[in-house]
Amino acid sequence: MTDIEIVGSGPNGLAAAVTLARAGLSVRVYERMAGIGGGASTRESVASGYWHDSCSAVHPLAVASPFFRAFGLAARVSFVTPEISFAHPLPAADGGSGIAYRDLERTVDALGADGPAYRRLLQPLAAHAREVARFTGSSLLRVPPHPIVEARFGARALAQGSALWNAGFSGRVAPAMITGVAAHAIVPQPSLVAAAAGLALQTHAHAGGWPIPVGGSQAISNALADDLRAHGGEIVTDHEIGSLDELTARAVVLDVTPRALVRLAGERMPGRYRQRLARFHYGSGAATVQFALSGPVPWSDERIARAGTVHIGGRREQIAAGERDVLAGRHASSPYVLVSQPSMFDPSRAPAGGHALWTYTHVPTGSTLDQTEAVIAAIEQHAPGFRDLIVASSARTAAQLAEHNPNYIGGDIAAGAATLPQLLARPVLSLDPWRTPMPGVYLTGASTVPGPGVHGQSGWFAARSVLRHEFGVRRMPSLAP
Ligand SMILES: Cc1cc2nc3c(=O)[nH]c(=O)nc-3n(C[C@H](O)[C@H](O)[C@H](O)COP(=O)(O)OP(=O)(O)OC[C@H]3O[C@@H](n4cnc5c(N)ncnc54)[C@H](O)[C@@H]3O)c2cc1C
Repeated sequence: MTDIEIVGSGPNGLAAAVTLARAGLSVRVYERMAGIGGGASTRESVASGYWHDSCSAVHPLAVASPFFRAFGLAARVSFVTPEISFAHPLPAADGGSGIAYRDLERTVDALGADGPAYRRLLQPLAAHAREVARFTGSSLLRVPPHPIVEARFGARALAQGSALWNAGFSGRVAPAMITGVAAHAIVPQPSLVAAAAGLALQTHAHAGGWPIPVGGSQAISNALADDLRAHGGEIVTDHEIGSLDELTARAVVLDVTPRALVRLAGERMPGRYRQRLARFHYGSGAATVQFALSGPVPWSDERIARAGTVHIGGRREQIAAGERDVLAGRHASSPYVLVSQPSMFDPSRAPAGGHALWTYTHVPTGSTLDQTEAVIAAIEQHAPGFRDLIVASSARTAAQLAEHNPNYIGGDIAAGAATLPQLLARPVLSLDPWRTPMPGVYLTGASTVPGPGVHGQSGWFAARSVLRHEFGVRRMPSLAP
């Protein structure tokens, strides 16, 4: 009999699988898709020779997360780290583009009068990026392991998450840059959660940078799968699990949403736990548009070509208004668009001279509106002539994203709204939220602590719980290469 069966080969499913296989257990992973990786996968999906990430593209957490550090990911996968972590185009009337160099002091210099306030916000965090990653990558119910760093982080998140968020800044550029990163959280702004999520990412922007794996996000999944197989594990693709009754292992770990867990468990789930999971709710959606280009994006501000990630959405207040529209169920008239330009740094992603451009925008949950034209218009504002470079494009509406991966309910790429209550109780309030009341059944994935992102933390924590409760093992295995 197999010791462990895992449903889903996303980064959390694979992180759990690797940890359990390293502990000497026999592990089998089931994946409904033909390829492995879930939100960390790369396909030749738009045009021949162009390799686009299906979901995640930029990976500050793949280098900074405690799980991936223990796994030694940086020694197994080649990363390129752009000198500019992100750029935020703005018209000259608003102060011109915001450029977040990995080098904080260079960023401060470029910000002029607002530079010192930007430094005060980020320098104390960037100097302790590892501690920030440890704290944001674990349960908020834990005793803070680094109280001084956490107090500094909390004070800054409170300030940036309040109506006084502009205090200390006189211009528009630095506030727009901060809001553009906070918008990754897809929650109202200003708010504590958006500010905290943004500050965590921005800390890494000025510490290890925002790296891009050579070959795309698939390289991360492949590294995990290779290690799993090297330790006797097995992955079965094209195999969807429809019920827990199909699984026979001593313990199972499910890389799915609470909603899917309810369906898979059927009558086996105790009523009270079912009610708690039913309270877990899902957030706004995302719609992706991928482009194959015949040349680099002709940004008016040529520094933007050197940025791995670009946030389009205008001034701080404009982004906040667009995000409010989306949360209220309306498509924003001037949407926030997240752009990644991997082939500027990794030539393997496109044919010679060509470029693979990856974008997504925020839309109301379940939206069926194709965002291709909206995204082209947003980029054209800052890169006239962009449209003429498009060789091919491929769009997924929020509804199609949910069909592609059932974990993204209504297109919610966070697999559950990242509100404060749902970060504390993800998916339920517990010091061990990965363990369910059903014997031998564990939940992992972005719907569990610590939430979305390619960090593997949830899978690692779920595996720790399995080892302790099912096998009496308290010592975590080494994951080193
Ligand atoms: C458009 C988009 C952009 C993103 N950008 C970034 C980014 O730049 N950086 C970043 O860090 N994160 C990003 N993310 C988030 C990140 O991809 C996710 O948070 C992460 O992949 C979650 O990992 P997971 O293991 O929890 O689940 P997933 O990656 O969603 O994997 C779950 C897997 O389980 C499989 N599965 C589900 N049900 C079953 C079943 N019943 N039987 C068999 N298999 C099943 C699915 O097919 C899937 O492969 C992005 C996500 C999206 C969609």
